[in-house]
Amino acid sequence: MTAPVTVPVLMYHAVAARPADATYGLSVHPDRFAAQLELLAAEGFTTITVGELAAIRRGEATAPERPVALTFDDGYADFHREALPRLSAAGATGTLFVTTGWLDDAGPETAGHPLDRMLSWSQVAECDAAGIEVGAHSHSHAQLDQLPDAALRDELARPRRLLAERLGHEVPHLAYPYGYSSARVRRAVADAGYRLAASVGNFAAGPGADGYALPRLTVARDTGLDTFGRVVRGEHHARIYWKERTLTAGYLVVRRGRSALSRSALAGRARS
Ligand SMILES: [Zn+2]
Repeated sequence: MTAPVTVPVLMYHAVAARPADATYGLSVHPDRFAAQLELLAAEGFTTITVGELAAIRRGEATAPERPVALTFDDGYADFHREALPRLSAAGATGTLFVTTGWLDDAGPETAGHPLDRMLSWSQVAECDAAGIEVGAHSHSHAQLDQLPDAALRDELARPRRLLAERLGHEVPHLAYPYGYSSARVRRAVADAGYRLAASVGNFAAGPGADGYALPRLTVARDTGLDTFGRVVRGEHHARIYWKERTLTAGYLVVRRGRSALSRSALAGRARS
């Protein structure tokens, strides 16, 4: 049995000098990313994958002294160009959550609307071979709670199948598009065979954290190095993320309203 451990799980998107406008706010400049890796090394942090975190949570692995998990959503092409070499040089690892329908050469499986140039399948395989853990991020980056059951099942099963086929091994972890989930979505994720799913919470993942709503901490373009240090040390999360937390809460209210609206619209249609 290992000691209970609280792990900061960081959420990145693009690591790029000049990202697309749509991803700018949530992107990180490659130089800043390199400085963040240096800070982690200087302060004695060890990077672990989400899979390693899951094993630690199950008591099947021992946590390193100061664990931190780096995760990267969507599967932007710059991950291969900018993040992977910097992670490798630092002896660090991470988890890459890929939207399979967005991939550059998704071909007949193309789905959704990628926000920037995306990774190719061979680059995803290269990341996997280089020790980066690959996870799923739905197939088309749909708002999962808005989908009827059959479409929801497909959004979850398809990336799991495609990634297993291409990589030659199971992919048991998922990050929710837009960072949130509902109870129905979490049930569907478990039914689809995923063992853990990451959301956005902007607090560190303690031993009691829900494994199907694993909280992550946002790293954004305007996250200064001082703030980054406080985030990974677990200092002042409430103060640093007050705006994000307020926005998330507001967004959930909007979403719940919309969900109720679409339900009543459906009910109305069923009646007519
Ligand atoms: Zn995403």
